[in-house]
Amino acid sequence: MGRDYYSAAGNEILNNGHTIQVNFRPGSTMSLNGHTYELKQFHFHAPSENQIKGESFPLEVHLVHADKEGNLAVVGIMFKEGAENKALTKAWNQMPEQKNAKQALSQVINAEDMLPSDKAYYRFNGSLTTPPCSEGVTWLVMKEPVTVSKEQVEQFTKVMGTHTNRPVQPLNARPVLQ
Ligand SMILES: [Zn+2]
Repeated sequence: MGRDYYSAAGNEILNNGHTIQVNFRPGSTMSLNGHTYELKQFHFHAPSENQIKGESFPLEVHLVHADKEGNLAVVGIMFKEGAENKALTKAWNQMPEQKNAKQALSQVINAEDMLPSDKAYYRFNGSLTTPPCSEGVTWLVMKEPVTVSKEQVEQFTKVMGTHTNRPVQPLNARPVLQ
């Protein structure tokens, strides 16, 4: 997984009623087996939708990428409870509390800051968990979780008013490649 997440920063943050989402200007890219995907947005789920070895996490972020043909690749990163996450603080400071509200970002948010130091990942094929639920999405789930404080998780669930995940899907239809 090669990437250039420094060429474009997030430019707006929105509350769509289901999640908090940061939209990106064109230019940040991720490449997989020589194929280039552009970063479109990232958004959050609490608790996590994916699991690592049967363990679920209080929060997960999905970095959604698309190639020129519209094929999607999503990078999932788990948050485990621990130290405050500084990158998340920047987002949370600017998240709209009203449903269907969005605002321009005044503090720069870069996708690179969301990644764990160890870039190893699990890879599998599956479907996107939020609308539109398209099949054929390439999933990369980072093996190493990053940290989030209990207060940060509470801040998110309070704004969203409810848990934002859906039941974990059986893994039988999507072999995990390592
Ligand atoms: Zn998602």
